[in-house]
Amino acid sequence: MEVKTSLLDNMIGVGDMVLLEPLSEDSFIENLRNRFDHNEIYTYIGSVVISMNPYRALPIYTPEKVEEYRNRNFYELSPHIYALADEAYRSLRDQDKDQCILITGESGAGKTEASKLVMSYVAAVCGKGQEVNKVKEQLLQSNPVLEAFGNAKTVRNDNSSRFGKYMDIEFDFKGDPLGGVISNYLLEKSRVVKQPRGERNFHVFYQLLSGASDDTLSKSWKVAAGSNDCSKYLNNAMQIVGFMEDEVQSVLQLVAAVLKLGNIEFKPESRSNGTDESRIKDKNGWFDGRQTSLILSSVLERAFSYRTVEAKQEKVSTTLNVAQAYYARDALAKNLYSRLFSWLVTRINESIKVSLKENRVVMGVLDIYGFEIFEDNSFEQFIINYCNEKLQQIFIELTLREEQEEYVREGIEWTNIEYFNNAIICDLIENHQNGILAMLDEECLRPGTVTDETFLDKLNTICAGHKHFESRQSKNSKFLTDHSLPHNCFRIQHYAGKVLYRAEGFVDKNNDLLYRDMSQAMYKAKHSLIKQLFPEGNPAKVNLKRPPTAGFQFKASVGTLMRNLQTKNPNYIRCIKPNDKKASHIFTDTLVCHQVRYLGLMENVRVRRAGYAFRQAYEPCLERYKMLSAEWTLHCIDKVFSSGLMHVLCTSSLQLFSLEERRRQCLQDLATLIQKIYRGH
Ligand code: ATP
Ligand code: MG
Repeated sequence: MEVKTSLLDNMIGVGDMVLLEPLSEDSFIENLRNRFDHNEIYTYIGSVVISMNPYRALPIYTPEKVEEYRNRNFYELSPHIYALADEAYRSLRDQDKDQCILITGESGAGKTEASKLVMSYVAAVCGKGQEVNKVKEQLLQSNPVLEAFGNAKTVRNDNSSRFGKYMDIEFDFKGDPLGGVISNYLLEKSRVVKQPRGERNFHVFYQLLSGASDDTLSKSWKVAAGSNDCSKYLNNAMQIVGFMEDEVQSVLQLVAAVLKLGNIEFKPESRSNGTDESRIKDKNGWFDGRQTSLILSSVLERAFSYRTVEAKQEKVSTTLNVAQAYYARDALAKNLYSRLFSWLVTRINESIKVSLKENRVVMGVLDIYGFEIFEDNSFEQFIINYCNEKLQQIFIELTLREEQEEYVREGIEWTNIEYFNNAIICDLIENHQNGILAMLDEECLRPGTVTDETFLDKLNTICAGHKHFESRQSKNSKFLTDHSLPHNCFRIQHYAGKVLYRAEGFVDKNNDLLYRDMSQAMYKAKHSLIKQLFPEGNPAKVNLKRPPTAGFQFKASVGTLMRNLQTKNPNYIRCIKPNDKKASHIFTDTLVCHQVRYLGLMENVRVRRAGYAFRQAYEPCLERYKMLSAEWTLHCIDKVFSSGLMHVLCTSSLQLFSLEERRRQCLQDLATLIQKIYRGH
């Protein structure tokens, strides 16, 4: 077999940290830095890929590179994300093993880019043909559509994912893609109405304003702006994914409607009983003849002034003051947008779903919002960071805990390697009795006056004394903790660092309630998509049951996701951010070191080094190599296995080869394998 570049030749530093001598945190960081300085942004820890964000386009994703990595064994070439994608794809195709690609790292570390690289690699190497190509295009083009609506510029990342995404790509037995299913996790919808300093709203708002002609903006969407061609990409992508022209228009009209909602202002109008009632300011500006076709109907106008409360079959109408009207307006804008986002995902799924009932294998790609520490952290960061804790937990369970337990189980001599298990933090957040989410729900559902302060009081009572929880004033005076903390905050020591959360808004965001008058006004809208997004506004279907809270739904969907991931063979990409300036060529040791620590990478190398770098289950290994010698007895094979050869990596399919070819392949495999075993130890 011709080997163009061997892992051992021309290597900058060490390509696999398992081979690093001597191993220390300093040498680990130095190796990353050395490789980064030479544009080698990928480094392995065994089968785990560390990816450093280069913050510039490197010429390493060309079609030639794809060809280079195609059908090559993982350790044959220098480390690359393509090697991981190839390995995952081939074991899916040749061994029918469902795979998942778990991409982790903090905001701006390169997760979304990595997920797209994996997808585009797999698209390039899997089958071809008109139908297959169409499926591929649709799967790939779902990315720009969802990014337009779900990503935004933050201080950490100019294209930050503000939602979690998990995509199952389904393949037939030949390895051709059939379609897929996307699951989305809690969009950070508060961004629609308020963005932290230096940050922006979701990309689509800017694309809408800069991309459409003045005529379209004023006639069809009824907003004013300049023009260039920016949103053509979005339009194109939506059409490839399968949106009809009128659907695209409808979606963009809705985005425009959200923008317009944000511009509505209110003024107080005095009533005879001395109270103030809210009225829309400058009504004529909003309600000219054309506006009624969108959402700003007179029904909605009324909903900004009055609220109907239904109790025991009685309807009571109360007035809204100006502050309440603004609150209602913002709640409506957030709801409209986040429902639109979920609708987009459902609609894309309709296009890409697989209708055939044949056997399928699945590759799941997970790209969520990365761990975040801002100056001001709220419910959204709490949810995002909880999700990151759960992913770290999977990594710990599978690569540190289970792996060590496996050696012990198999009777292989083993010295335990210590690591920090973040299960304790997951429990602090999600324990169904006294976890923070459970207490928040309890507070939200409790009758009487519920405020963010009462929620914080509850946390202070129940979490006092927890090793990872701190607040200024715990109810149990024994646990008065950090006096430098503000009164209205609590702090969690996450696996990736301490985060101070401001309790303000937790109750409201978790409740996520929309006044019924609003839903009803939306249901009455003439715009069919808007109507469709608010089914609960149908007066014939009044449901007095409280919808589940945002936290409850998130916890449930993350739980389902984790169970799903655990049924698949995991492939890890650990993304690292080299600096916090979003700049190329800068490698900040302290920042990298912090990430290496909390990601548990040193422990990962130690476990990998102490154990066998290559492994294969007994049965498939036996199947694979038994043909090499007709005389091999089981006893003989046992000997081979117990001498370490069970840790074999073999992936190529045998089914399509002749017996001679199979023998030749096997021998070749075995030779590479022995080489690897010697190198790894
Ligand atoms: P978040 O959690 O905020 O969504 P993320 O981990 O998904 O963050 P990305 O959006 O993937 O981060 O990356 C941030 C930016 O870094 C990209 O927009 C791109 O400019 C740059 N970048 C990341 N990976 C690469 C790469 N492999 N090559 C070139 N640039 C990259
Ligand atoms: Mg991202």
